[in-house]
Amino acid sequence: MIRSGLLGEKLGHSYSPAIHASFGDYSYPLFEKTAEELPRFFAEAPFDGINVTIPYKKAVVPFMDELSETAAALGSVNTVIKRPDGTFYGDNTDVYGFTETVHTSGLSVSGKKTLVLGSGGASAAVQFALKQLGAQVVVISRTGENNYENLFLHADARFIVNATPVGMFPRNDETPLSLSGFPELEGVFDLVYNPARTMLLQEAVSLGIPAFNGLRMLVSQAAKSSEGFAGVPVPQDMVETVIRQLSKQMENVVLIGMPGAGKTVIARALAGLTGRPVFDSDEEVTAKTGKTPAMIIEQEGEAAFRTIETETLKELAKKSGAILSTGGGAVTRPENEAILKRNGKVVWIRRALSELPREGRPLSQGDLKALYDVREPLYRKFADLTVENDGCPEDAAKKIEEQI
Ligand code: NAP
Repeated sequence: MIRSGLLGEKLGHSYSPAIHASFGDYSYPLFEKTAEELPRFFAEAPFDGINVTIPYKKAVVPFMDELSETAAALGSVNTVIKRPDGTFYGDNTDVYGFTETVHTSGLSVSGKKTLVLGSGGASAAVQFALKQLGAQVVVISRTGENNYENLFLHADARFIVNATPVGMFPRNDETPLSLSGFPELEGVFDLVYNPARTMLLQEAVSLGIPAFNGLRMLVSQAAKSSEGFAGVPVPQDMVETVIRQLSKQMENVVLIGMPGAGKTVIARALAGLTGRPVFDSDEEVTAKTGKTPAMIIEQEGEAAFRTIETETLKELAKKSGAILSTGGGAVTRPENEAILKRNGKVVWIRRALSELPREGRPLSQGDLKALYDVREPLYRKFADLTVENDGCPEDAAKKIEEQI
């Protein structure tokens, strides 16, 4: 069997093993090494071909016997092939990965001003790809001539590419800039893929600007590396399947709906069906404050509870591949929509008003119909999909699993 793998410093959260497992029949262990260990690693070379990631893409260059044109131009290697004579060939497939992202977006960057945020390794690959595609590239760097203080000089930008880690997990609630000063934007690319929709991409979508995350770049660069390791091309439909599967696995399933609509039991049933972990926002609030939502509402008022709830949702929404069961009123704070959708698909659990229980639910004690009338449009606005809870929880869970 071909021996492949990934070389880096901290690799615990890497998606690469899962991606490569889909592409070829080769082993793909993680090689976590310190910089001092690199000479010995290349002397022993326990691989036929490996990927290289942060922080060693430049550090491995001196170990290479030959570089591809792209790797030589960038001074950065993310794919190493050990040739039959034991020499090392270094390539960089990040450029291909980003080029694929632009191609499949259907947008043309040719001749258009494109701002690349950040000046690190990923930015270098993006700049190289964009120049090959004919874009007019301007790098925005915190310490550069073009920086975040003089962005107004580039209000005529047509594309923006985020090649910084800003907005990436666990800093999901940050964004590198506001898009409001760029009226001519035609597209926004973010190399970040966790969360699936960074604040930057959410802002783009809210302005009607096409927005693309970094997952296609990640999978496409892996496909190109795999071809180098295994000598077999990865078919495009396989690339598309892996992108679909990964984005489904990585995103959370967020359940919203009236108090008593069945979110908790359906969450458990969905966990049984999919193996996803479940988190309940009301339970998290209780764990954090030592009080149930009902106690907080009775003692401090609903507004105080909603503030604690939003903070709790912000933390829960950073999970990947989880089921998040929310309180019935989570939809009453407009900002919760973007928070929950940043890395989640929102599912509205609908249940007939006559079936909703009231016991132990302070906000369900009054006119439940009036409460429903207020919230129904909000659930509708938040929901990516709607599932009727008109049978057993397992049926509803199955419907969710089929549709997400
Ligand atoms: P990096 O070298 O650590 O950082 C890139 C640049 O971002 C830095 O050089 C810096 O540029 C800027 N930056 C860093 N922290 C910042 C902050 N707090 N505020 C504003 N700018 C900041 O990382 P990288 O390897 O280039 O990767 C950048 C991002 O791309 C990461 O999120 C990474 O996960 C992602 N990535 C994705 C793929 C993919 O396949 N989708 C591939 C590679 C990388 P200045 O100092 O010039 O401002």
